[in-house]
Amino acid sequence: MVQKKLSINSRSLSYRLLVLYALMFILPGGFLLWVIWELGSAAAPGDGSISLTSMSLRMGIPAAVLMSCAAFLLMYRSMRRIHQVTEEAGSFYKELHGAGSVPSDVHEENDEVQRISHYVTDMIGELRRKINDVDQYAQDLDVANRKLMEVAVVDGMTQLYNHKHIRSLLVTELRRAERFSHPLAIMMVDIDDFKLFNDSHGHLVGDRALRDVSLIIRNNIRTVDVPARYGGEEFLVILPEATIDGGRMVAERVRRAVEEHVFDMGRGIRKTHITVSTGVAAYEGAPLTDSELISLADTRLYEAKRDGKNKVMCG
Ligand code: GH3
Ligand code: MG
Ligand code: MG
Repeated sequence: MVQKKLSINSRSLSYRLLVLYALMFILPGGFLLWVIWELGSAAAPGDGSISLTSMSLRMGIPAAVLMSCAAFLLMYRSMRRIHQVTEEAGSFYKELHGAGSVPSDVHEENDEVQRISHYVTDMIGELRRKINDVDQYAQDLDVANRKLMEVAVVDGMTQLYNHKHIRSLLVTELRRAERFSHPLAIMMVDIDDFKLFNDSHGHLVGDRALRDVSLIIRNNIRTVDVPARYGGEEFLVILPEATIDGGRMVAERVRRAVEEHVFDMGRGIRKTHITVSTGVAAYEGAPLTDSELISLADTRLYEAKRDGKNKVMCG
């Protein structure tokens, strides 16, 4: 540890001890020297020094008594404070470590400075450990919070954003598109006849197929596009900067990829069995709310269904 220089200011203990030293030794010492000097001079007769000596004694003795009292008071007050602090530090130390925990080199009869130095050093170490612990807790809390945030916005089964989050993202993206006069497309994707699929193959196979479709969607959009599980077997994808034609291209790519995907039906059976229908809508300058945009994509999705499914409808 780096040893710091002793700092002395008018409130420090070092200052008080220096004053004490001056009062107890330097000033009385000076006075004694003066008296000795005066007595020495008194040996020379006829020069009037006797009266000076008696004056120095008359002034010096009360001054020395006063100085001693002041020194005693100063010392008493300082020592009482040190004693008080030592006692408090000691009882806090015992509270922390248990009553029999004071090490053999720090006995109750050791001087206060030694004891207090031990207690304070120990407490500083403890404080450092606690600060490290608190830092660690803060980091853990941060990780837990982030996980919690993730859980709140991500769908557990597909790991895509959930309905609530995609709705709020859509509001933001639409506002941005309006502000910068950029296009924005969305696509609503629905698995065809999924109820029948579940009834035929069971819900577990259905769940697996749902995850596969999520992955296919994710793999066939750009990194700036935002996919979400909008409902049971429906997906909503936000396509920033895409026009209706851009949206159609992406939707067609997804449709084809699902159509060609070989799904695991369980018991070793693998089939291309699933198709999706998609409705695409876009903001291209005409004022539109997020609900209106979704409703337009929804209408087109049902047109695709009515038109025989496994289709993309863009209006
Ligand atoms: P359509 O072609 O008109 O969309 O018919 P559909 O059968 O796909 O639509 P419908 O709305 O009649 O049924 C949706 C089905 O999706 C019913 C439900 O069991 C299934 N589904 C919804 N969520 C899940 C899920 O998390 N896991 C599984 N396995 N199935 C789900
Ligand atoms: Mg469906
Ligand atoms: Mg549906």
